[in-house]
Amino acid sequence: METNRKVIIVGGVAGGASCAARLRRLDEGAAIVLLERGPYVSFANCGLPYYVGGVIPDEDDLLMVSPDLFRRRFNIDVRVLHEATAIDRRRRELVVRDGATGGEYREGYDALVLAPGAAPLRPPLPGIDLPGIFSLRTIPDSREIREWIAARRARKAVVVGGSYIGLEMTENLVRRGLAVTVVDVLPQVMAPLDGEMAEPVMRCLEENRVDLHLGDGVTGFEADARGGLVVRTAGGASLTADIVILAIGVKPEVALARAAGLEIGELGGIRVDESMRTSDPAIWAVGDAVEVRHAVTGRWCLMPLAGPANRQGRVAADAICGRNARFRGVQGTAVCGIFGMTVAMTGASEKVLKQHGVRDYEVVYLHPYQHASYYPGAKRMHIKLIFSRPEGRILGAQATGEGGVDKRIDVIAMALQKNGTVFDLEECELCYAPQFGSAKDPVNLAGMVAANVLRGDMPAAGWSGLASTDALLIDVREPFEFAADHLDGAVNIPLGDLRDRLAELPRDRELLVYCAIGERSYTAVRILVQHGFRAGTLSGGYVTYCGFNP
Ligand code: FAD
Repeated sequence: METNRKVIIVGGVAGGASCAARLRRLDEGAAIVLLERGPYVSFANCGLPYYVGGVIPDEDDLLMVSPDLFRRRFNIDVRVLHEATAIDRRRRELVVRDGATGGEYREGYDALVLAPGAAPLRPPLPGIDLPGIFSLRTIPDSREIREWIAARRARKAVVVGGSYIGLEMTENLVRRGLAVTVVDVLPQVMAPLDGEMAEPVMRCLEENRVDLHLGDGVTGFEADARGGLVVRTAGGASLTADIVILAIGVKPEVALARAAGLEIGELGGIRVDESMRTSDPAIWAVGDAVEVRHAVTGRWCLMPLAGPANRQGRVAADAICGRNARFRGVQGTAVCGIFGMTVAMTGASEKVLKQHGVRDYEVVYLHPYQHASYYPGAKRMHIKLIFSRPEGRILGAQATGEGGVDKRIDVIAMALQKNGTVFDLEECELCYAPQFGSAKDPVNLAGMVAANVLRGDMPAAGWSGLASTDALLIDVREPFEFAADHLDGAVNIPLGDLRDRLAELPRDRELLVYCAIGERSYTAVRILVQHGFRAGTLSGGYVTYCGFNP
């Protein structure tokens, strides 16, 4: 049904632009105004690191929809360089500053959507405003970084923050020939991953000659005599650089909402209900600026990702048009490519579960090939699956590898969203031909391994308990593998000899069995358990122990 409602949207990129387009599709009669304080709407911020690196050669390729196209196709009144500076909730009016003229005007609304995003964190460290220290959020930011690199003939970069944007920038700076040091206060890169899952990522970075300076926070910046920068750290390091990229996270842009008295959550994001409506019934908010419920923990969280922002924009548009739209919450499904490696995750990590006091969960690791091992080019991926005990509800998954990682995490993400269990993963029917997967896909295998644990067919011992265990460690790999390296105190009984050597094993002591990746140890445990031994496995075998070094 057509209306004459007037909707103003503040912020014209992911959440705002998607809300505007959806609104028009639902309501041909609405007056829709899209305000963007920057010079562009609907640009590809996720592509910015690749523009810096030259993979995306042309700046225009980052512009997905022009203001003109918005006008012609959607009849949306797009105003770039227009910043909303205040909300007069009583009158339902917005105060807007026209960046071109410097003038200010008021614009009335029936419904207001706030999609102002999040700003890169810039802590008040000494020297933070020195020239040559950049954050990356907008097209002009990326242009300035490119120009600085070219003008200064930059050869050395320090990237502060080793998560998604930091690592994407690292790859692209290396691509441009710069030597890069990544500094992070955490002892690992890619903070959303559990520490052990970040090991292959750190190895990959080092193999690509990235210098990792981890577990040490930046305390300040100084200009040096040759016109470069020095990055000082708490640990006493002085890292020289021609350019510094700050990628230490983002902060929701809530100044407008806060000044208008809208409810702000404990994490600093705008509070919304499931239809993305704020504490004012005429105002909705979407994207990086809002707090959302985490689908696994049920807690409020900030999840600055493009997918949720776009979907929330649609939900807000539906709700404004009177539809019963509900945002399901976020689960943190994310992917990142670094030097040919894919890193992906969904749901809660083990560290997040621990933070929230969740104890009833199990973890399995597996290292399957991304497609049939006999088909050329097969490479192992590393998967960690976290699930509730005893129900087997999927709580989270993380994976790294060279190929096929994203599709496995996507499948698990969908199962998680539907409240699926490891038994569902065990059973799910996925497409297969040798160059794409295996008849038992890595997703099936993850479900099978986890289901084996829950059914008691393959009791799993946690790696964290290894140091204090009284169990006898049995390595069922071949002698040459054992000779190359093994766990301290392990005895070597190759799987093929196990049935003949059962008499050597104690019946009054727990047996912990491992092999290379967990496949032979599974068979070994089945033999032992059926012969009356108390036996379990170390999940994912020696490859897990070695930080996923195949
Ligand atoms: P934004 O897209 O940031 O848009 C907000 C807009 O509002 C801005 O253009 C801002 O200028 C405007 N604005 C703010 N205040 C006002 C005001 N008062 N008046 C008018 N306009 C205003 N996510 C992924 O899922 N995958 C990725 O690979 C990925 N890569 C990224 C790479 C980079 C370099 C960056 C910066 C982000 C990346 N993200 C990625 C995150 C993703 O881009 C954001 O989650 C998403 O854009 C958030 O959408 P949003 O609409 O909330 O905010």
